[in-house]
Amino acid sequence: MKAGAVIIGASHAGTQAAAALRQSGWQEPITLVSNEGCLPYHRPPLSKGFLSGQQAEDQILLRGEGFYRDQDITLLNRAEVTQILPDRQEVEAGGAMLPYTALILATGASARRLPVPGHALENIHMLRSLADSRLLKERLTAAERIVIIGGGFIGLEVAATAAKAGKAVTVIEVQDRLIARALPPLLSDYFRDLHIQNGVAFRLNARLDRFEAEGGHVSHVLLADGERLAADLVLVGVGSDANCSLARQAGLEIAASGILVDACCTTSAASIYAIGDCAAQFNDHTQMVMRVESVQNATDQARTLAAHLTGKPLPAKGANWFWSDQYSAKLQMAGIMRDGCDLLLRGDPQSGTFSLLQTVDDRLVAAFSVNRAGDHMAARKLIASGALLDRAVAADSAAPLAKAVVEMEKA
Ligand code: FAD
Repeated sequence: MKAGAVIIGASHAGTQAAAALRQSGWQEPITLVSNEGCLPYHRPPLSKGFLSGQQAEDQILLRGEGFYRDQDITLLNRAEVTQILPDRQEVEAGGAMLPYTALILATGASARRLPVPGHALENIHMLRSLADSRLLKERLTAAERIVIIGGGFIGLEVAATAAKAGKAVTVIEVQDRLIARALPPLLSDYFRDLHIQNGVAFRLNARLDRFEAEGGHVSHVLLADGERLAADLVLVGVGSDANCSLARQAGLEIAASGILVDACCTTSAASIYAIGDCAAQFNDHTQMVMRVESVQNATDQARTLAAHLTGKPLPAKGANWFWSDQYSAKLQMAGIMRDGCDLLLRGDPQSGTFSLLQTVDDRLVAAFSVNRAGDHMAARKLIASGALLDRAVAADSAAPLAKAVVEMEKA
């Protein structure tokens, strides 16, 4: 077999890398190795439109089947890469050896487990893959009392889907507020109130103790304070861990719980690269080496790497961005939340249409917009350019956010 680009993982990062390599003129073979058994798909709908039944499987595919054939990309499905041999520039997948000139790790992340007694019972679900979402969707139909462990994005999106379907939903969160890792308190409170209005109950500052079973199925969730909640179905949504075992075994440098890469997504080993949820990279905005778990980060890193491998100019770096849909609230975030910033509110949270801006020295560092897509799009540009803002204009929700700029570039 002729060596070329071998990409491990065929999701947002891996599939985009294959597409971008071809777009940039990569002439060598491209092999996309996936341990899943379906065409690559969009992951965000798994807790939103696909789970609720609004989107069918064929509507969440990243690319149609013909794309891989037309672009001469070999998609190896149901193939697990089990070993990297850096000295021989080969990987082992399903018993066969694949030679590479460039090896791209796009192995993503796995849902974190909670090792408490009873965690492996029937009807305790995790949500990361299409297979997980299919099973959860099927089981949700019959369940009435849903307990969700974790008040982060995935837990709350599933809570919204289940509550809209008329289920009795309780969310258990160990912290004193929701989505505390990514949102400022005002947004945490907004989403808590929105869920309560839709019938969801919360236990904040609550620690899970164990699960109890009847007939092999989960029947109750026990909290450390002694509360015992009846449950027909449990979803555990307590974060994810990067899939780094192959990289560790190959001796690659690991940092911030991800595979350490430089600005071009090069790892510590020759001809091996990492992109997407599995990669840890220095972030210009936070000034930290970190993993960023988002579709935007996965696809941007894929495009950067493809440009690097084909000798093309690297694309300009934009702001990080992310979204979440819960009920009628479309949350769009630009930048990454920071502590100790100045805050500006545009609009009224009571109206369900507002943006909260975080600034440092009157320059925007993050923006959280609920049903204000215009603010979000403007914020992405303002964060990337480091523009200086007039605070009074920025706080005026009737004026376009872009009008608040008093100086475009950082000195
Ligand atoms: P992944 O999507 O994790 O894909 C990695 C792939 O590699 C997987 O298919 C995995 O099975 C495969 N793989 C791993 N190891 C091997 C191996 N050894 N051999 C072969 N294959 C292997 N982001 C947003 O921006 N907005 C959202 O609204 C949003 N919603 C989300 C909702 C859910 C339910 C989930 C789970 C995630 C959501 N995300 C969202 C996050 C987003 O989906 C991830 O950031 C994105 O999928 C990362 O892409 P990736 O390609 O790096 O990794």
